[in-house]
Amino acid sequence: MGSLYGIDPRAIRERLGLEKDYQARQIWRWLAKGVYDPLKMTDLSLALRQSLAGGGSFISSEVVARSTDETGAMKLGVRMEDGQVIECVLLRSESGHTAACLSSQSGCAMGCRFCRTGTMKLLRNLRPYEIIEQYIHLMNLGEEIDSIVFMGMGEPLANLPNVLEAIAYLHNPDGINLSHRKMTVSTCGIVPGIRQFCRADVPVKLAVSLVTAIQSKRESLMPVARTFSLGALHDALVQYQKHFGRRITFECCLISGINTTDADARRLAEYCAGLDVIVNLIPYNPGAELDFSTPTDEELERFCSALDRLGVQYTRRFSRGRGISGACGQLAVSYRD
Ligand code: SF4
Repeated sequence: MGSLYGIDPRAIRERLGLEKDYQARQIWRWLAKGVYDPLKMTDLSLALRQSLAGGGSFISSEVVARSTDETGAMKLGVRMEDGQVIECVLLRSESGHTAACLSSQSGCAMGCRFCRTGTMKLLRNLRPYEIIEQYIHLMNLGEEIDSIVFMGMGEPLANLPNVLEAIAYLHNPDGINLSHRKMTVSTCGIVPGIRQFCRADVPVKLAVSLVTAIQSKRESLMPVARTFSLGALHDALVQYQKHFGRRITFECCLISGINTTDADARRLAEYCAGLDVIVNLIPYNPGAELDFSTPTDEELERFCSALDRLGVQYTRRFSRGRGISGACGQLAVSYRD
């Protein structure tokens, strides 16, 4: 049958050869509620349910692994039609806020040196329905989902048309109805993608994995910086902010001895000037294949004090989801083979 997620009632009617528009609308509403087994769509006639059930379920993927850590973060391994497995995570903050962390690609071509997903290389872009289905699987864990972050596997702006389609579906007020301000797209700094994002005029929040504001260091940690310089990125962010008036988040994965120096703090403060921005400090999560380490508490304190002195607004995030390799830059390598 294939997935009916990501398409509108008219397309559902055509795909299923339904007689009436209202039947397609009923199915569309069930799908938004996380029900994809036709037999469970109880406002359809029994005869129709049984005949639809003969074609199989209306979802293309299945959950093949789940794990939970001590913070309550739940990670799902989701197998797609072609057998590839991607991951998504339901993160929970200390205040109880839940965020669905979704993947936009299987693997990633960006090759950030501190990221486990980057070691997989890009396998392929996810289709809109494969992105939406991750949300559905997380929703079916039974928790209310407060927000969505595109921070799982992949670079969302390298798969922007499909990500935008998924966002439109998740936003639809007649369906899942998540407001744009509850969605965050995170990029490693694809400048044309940020500009395209402005042109598409979809006012979701933007997070940038900045890591460091020192160009040479950023180039050595994040190959994308060789193509899109920090200067070009800053210009694009100014444009984004003029267009949407939204605060931007800079994600800084802090790696011991690499980007926690006073020079990093100073340059970061200079880079934030002219932008309404909050810096999210995330201590690096050690990954078996990668040769970096987490900063010590003293190192973190020293860096934070430097930011305090420089007047940089920041939050310190202790990577929730760390215990299940579900934290920033940790997804999916376990399924590589
Ligand atoms: S940090 Fe993000 S952009 Fe960089 S390799 Fe990992 S998934 Fe890709």
